[in-house]
Parts: sequence; structure tokens; C-alpha cells
Amino acid sequence: MHSAVRLAVLAATILRLQALTPDEIAQFRTTGTLEANTGIAGWVAVEDTGRQLYITSNGVPDHHTGPFPGPGNPNTIQEQNFVLKVRKTPVYADTPGCLPMGPVGLATNGVPLYNPQSAECEDAVINERFDSCHGHPDMPGRYHYHQNPVCAYVQEGGKASPLVGVAADGFPIYGPVDETGRTLTSADLDECHGREVNGRYRYHVTADYPYILGCFKGRVLPDAGVGRRCVCPVKRTGYQQSLLGVLRRLAKQQKQTTP
Ligand SMILES: [Zn+2]
Repeated sequence: MHSAVRLAVLAATILRLQALTPDEIAQFRTTGTLEANTGIAGWVAVEDTGRQLYITSNGVPDHHTGPFPGPGNPNTIQEQNFVLKVRKTPVYADTPGCLPMGPVGLATNGVPLYNPQSAECEDAVINERFDSCHGHPDMPGRYHYHQNPVCAYVQEGGKASPLVGVAADGFPIYGPVDETGRTLTSADLDECHGREVNGRYRYHVTADYPYILGCFKGRVLPDAGVGRRCVCPVKRTGYQQSLLGVLRRLAKQQKQTTP
């Protein structure tokens, strides 16, 4: 093989193995909008340390937010100090890894992405209240998404979705529309909620459960900056609203409406 061709093939191979391409890294940015509850602007930065990428953010959303505390959510949005460390070359795990509670990745606007579950191990999307951008804060004040973060990226009609974020294992997360203009569902994806495109693995967010990730396809660094303990198993087929969940929610609403 001609040496120039060999070099080009090598470069293409390296690029394909990278967690995030330079184009994808450039998507990590915020709009500069002041968040209404905190009066603070969100920021996000990506640092290349050679072998790893450090993605840091204050976790403050850069878009419209609901009033928090507010109906169905007593928590206050607070500025955070997120540091997500991912491999530049992700490694497939021998066995897919389970998802901890709290952050499992970061959206391109620096807001954390969570697994689909509530603290009660129910489908958070069905059982909890969100603002129109599909986010809400938890008890430590971390505003987060359990589902398609529709305000964190722009979906152009008929076009493939752009990058939405990165998972803690270093694999990118894309929106629901594929390269042919088709809107994907979980049935199009593997158990971790991803697939390979041109030899690169990526997750996709979908409108159906488990919404963002089902498991970690790759190995997560021990100091990635996400929890190590998995509390709620992510079921493949999703949750029906359980009777217990309905009762809990009614009790919560009762408590909130009682003066
Ligand atoms: Zn939540």
C-alpha cells in the first residue's frame, strides 16, 4: 500500500475509535441565557488531557426552565461543579454496565443526563413532573434530564439529529432521528440503547423507554465522576405505572395541597 494511503487509513481508524470527534467536542457549548430561577448562566468546557477528556460544567440549564420549587417538585436548582472524565478511546465492556442513580452522562449544554428511574425505582418520566424542556432538579439541586433533552439541541426537520451529549463510558449520545431521516424507537437499538454507525458506537435518545440509556456499553473509568452503585435495574421493556407508584404520587400531592 502507498504510504500516503496507509497514513490516511490509519488516521481514519484513529478518528473512528475516538470517543468524540473534534466536531462533536465543538458541540459542547451553552447559549449564554441566564437561568430564570438562579439568575446564573450555564457553562460547559471540554479539556483534552491526552488520554482522557474532562468535561466540566456548572450544570445550570441554558434554556427556559419551570419555576422550581414548584408544583410536583419541591427542589431548588443549584449551581454544581460537574467533572466527567471519559476515555478518548472508549472500550466495549465484556458485560454491559448497570446505570447508577444521578448523572450517567452530560448533555452538550453541561446538564446531567440520568437513568430512566425515579428514587422509587419507577419510570421517572411517567411518575414525576418536568418543565417543558423535560428537566427538573433533584434534592441536591441538580437540574437533569431523564428523557430527550429537547431544549439542549436543535432538531432540523428531515435531518439527522445532532449530538445530544456523552455517556460516562465515552460513547456519544445522539438525538432520535437517524441518517436516513427516520425517527428511531428503542426497538431499533440494542439493550444499552445504541447502535454502530460506520463502525462507531453511539447511543440515541428516543421518545419511548428507557429514553436515553439502558446500560453502559463501554467501560466507565473508576474516577469518571458518576455513582458506582446501581440501585434500580433498568428493565428492557419499561414500566407500567405500578399501583404503589400511583399511591405514592397521590400521597405526595395530598401532602402538597394540605395547608
Ligand atoms: Zn429526576
